[in-house]
Amino acid sequence: ISIHQANTPSSFTVESPNVTYSDADITSKYTYRTTDVSFANGAFSAAPRETVYDFKTERKVGKVGVMLVGWGGNNGTTVTAGIIANRRKLEWETREGPRAANYYGSVVMSSTVKLGTDTQTGKDVNIPLQTLLPMAHPNDLIIGGWDISGLDLAAAMDRAQVLEPTLKSLVRKEMVGMKPLPSIYYPDFIAANQEDRADNVLSGSQASMDHVEHLRKDIRDFKSANGLDRVIVLWTANTERYAELVPGVNDTADNLLKAIDAGHPEIAPSTVFAVASILENAPFINGSPQNTFVPGCIALAERHGAFLGGDDFKSGQTKMKSALVDFMINAGIKLTSIASYNHLGNNDGKNLSSQKQFRSKEISKSNVVDDMVAANNVLYKEGEHPDHTVVIKYMPAVGDNKRALDEYYAEIFLGGHQTISMFNVCEDSLLASPLIIDLVLIAELFTRVQWRKHAEQDWKSFHSVLSVLSYMLKAPLTPPGTPVVNALAKQRSALINIMKACVGLEPENDMTLEHKLF
Ligand code: NAD
Repeated sequence: ISIHQANTPSSFTVESPNVTYSDADITSKYTYRTTDVSFANGAFSAAPRETVYDFKTERKVGKVGVMLVGWGGNNGTTVTAGIIANRRKLEWETREGPRAANYYGSVVMSSTVKLGTDTQTGKDVNIPLQTLLPMAHPNDLIIGGWDISGLDLAAAMDRAQVLEPTLKSLVRKEMVGMKPLPSIYYPDFIAANQEDRADNVLSGSQASMDHVEHLRKDIRDFKSANGLDRVIVLWTANTERYAELVPGVNDTADNLLKAIDAGHPEIAPSTVFAVASILENAPFINGSPQNTFVPGCIALAERHGAFLGGDDFKSGQTKMKSALVDFMINAGIKLTSIASYNHLGNNDGKNLSSQKQFRSKEISKSNVVDDMVAANNVLYKEGEHPDHTVVIKYMPAVGDNKRALDEYYAEIFLGGHQTISMFNVCEDSLLASPLIIDLVLIAELFTRVQWRKHAEQDWKSFHSVLSVLSYMLKAPLTPPGTPVVNALAKQRSALINIMKACVGLEPENDMTLEHKLF
């Protein structure tokens, strides 16, 4: 394959018999190389295997809208102001000098991938991830959504206490005109301390088909009012308690629909939003830890070929953990305990000060090292696991500047110990907002990608559960029965290499033999 750079440094075409460009699509024939392992007579035998796939990516991105559930919250207001600031290329004064809008923290917008090696200089050619395939630009996203609090987005932005006053004054006029749609509020699912902001709610405090139909109409109206090709719905509302898994209620698609119709008390608002989105074929992403995607909900999405992604934004402490533990265990260091303390003072923290909602977060945060531990059978015996504790406390004074204190304790050579202690100030909403953007852009991309076994007749979509979003998520949802990958580097490689396969490029193997063999 030879690659040449076009006029703009970040645009490229792939010159290969395996890749064709038409006005409508980019089609690639891609050889996926894996290794089959079997065990016989006391030994493994490993056999390379090749599977040939075709991928087809629609080139027209179209007009994309995003509807946030919890639009008036800290994340909702921050991502909205951030997109306006970027769209208008705003600059503002801070006590540290002038600042300009950017998309730092977005892997799509602010990280690069190696396209290849320059034939003349021998140096790596890196391009922004956003240019690897035709993707929406966040500046073009149309934003709307729902909130149980009726404050307009400007007042909600003040309530959030995240952004500099100088920046707020520049976006205020536009945000005053943005008003969240009334939402569904089932008080049993979020903390009682949220009740005083619930002044923008539809009638009914349990699931109903009326609610599903109302939300479906909201999505359709938003789509037609803005002339959109695609709407993505994303839950950035409060963390709910776990829903109990009840046979006959939320176990199958039909039972779930029946249970909604019957107003069953174990159906969470987030699941009602997911069902409405599935029925409108709008990808639904869950940024909070609760089990929105009960088995019946996943089955419904599979039935309708709709996309789901979740759960829980991976923004601060867990992102560090999924990078650091990956490093330690892959370095052959035996991690023996992780103690994680958080305190935060925003409304998310207030909601999490209630035990049932904290429990959702605790579950989401606790499994993040399982795959890395299980993969190292030199350090850990079957079933052995490092101790792992997560504590979260509500501390109003620190506001949105969450503190995460972690101690990693490990066993090293000949019984020695390594202790790593970390103090991480996570400006919560400024870390989460770029993840919201990434989740939307990547989910939208995968609505335009299709695959088939090479030369088969019919094209198919990726599985309804978009595990390719895992890099941005703390407790990645994967198709039923498939493994969960938490390790940050692997998650990034999966995303980038799948995107590369869509343009017929090999996965990045980091071998750089060209610099080693001469
Ligand atoms: P927030 O409390 O500021 O915002 C949540 C908003 O949701 C509020 O405005 C609330 O009124 C609204 N809401 C509650 N129930 C609703 C419903 N049924 N329908 C519509 N709106 C509803 O919280 P935040 O800081 O913006 O975080 C949002 C969510 O993202 C939380 O669940 C949090 O745990 C999760 N999360 C955040 C981060 C991060 O900020 N770094 C990381 C991981 C997960």
